[in-house]
Amino acid sequence: KLSNRLQTIAGYVTAGSRIADIGSDHAQLPVYLLQAGIVPSAIAGELNKGPFDAARRQGAAVGLLHKLDVRQGDGLSVIQPLEVDTVTIAGMGGALMSDILEAGYQTGKLEGVKELVLQPNVGEDRVRSWLLEHGWSLLAETIMEEDGKIYEVLHAQKQSEQESKEHSAKVYDTSLLPVSLPEEIRFALLVRMGPFLLRKPIPVFHQKWQAELEKLDRVCQSLSLSEQPEAAGKLAQLRHEMTIMKEVL
Ligand code: SAM
Repeated sequence: KLSNRLQTIAGYVTAGSRIADIGSDHAQLPVYLLQAGIVPSAIAGELNKGPFDAARRQGAAVGLLHKLDVRQGDGLSVIQPLEVDTVTIAGMGGALMSDILEAGYQTGKLEGVKELVLQPNVGEDRVRSWLLEHGWSLLAETIMEEDGKIYEVLHAQKQSEQESKEHSAKVYDTSLLPVSLPEEIRFALLVRMGPFLLRKPIPVFHQKWQAELEKLDRVCQSLSLSEQPEAAGKLAQLRHEMTIMKEVL
């Protein structure tokens, strides 16, 4: 059975699109999308030999290798321009994810791709920034908990530069946050916490940021014991950030 996390990602994939799932591991997501008849064909990309073999075994076991093309390689290097409509990347950090997207963009591999469904494990702000900088419009976000872990899923669509600018201005509307905060801080908070998630904060969203604040609290404690010359400055900065986050929550 597909996990709720992968189910949520699958829910964002536009029916009928040709997909590439990058970092596919056992190819669970593309296999599900094919079996459910949501997509006509899929590519599973894997960097590492172990998961690559596992994906091929999985595709063969369910008799889907005529529709599931398992390819070994780094990030989007496994696809050709115009080959897919949707790219999904799930279960890795936001820094690696945005590096993969950037390399794909630089090499033309994102040409023709209309939709991205991304589930970074950490560093969601890196992914939102990348989308903002490259004319991808954020359409929706989900935050969810499964087996004691909290996940965010981002759904983005390629638009013209002008459309995406207008869309982003609406989505990253800084007037949602307390006007007492400087404009650039409000913008940074929207990128960090998620503009859709902030608009409708469900309990798991509060849970995530409560836990983040507790982590930062521990960093503060060790900074306050540190004898390094820059510790005091860092501590003041961090306390300031935490006050702002508490204000928003
Ligand atoms: N996407 C699946 C999911 O969400 O359940 C699997 C996630 S698994 C934790 C991350 C996978 O990404 C691993 O199988 C790893 O080999 C693969 N990976 C890491 N870096 C990669 C890269 N640069 N290109 C392609 N795959 C990569």
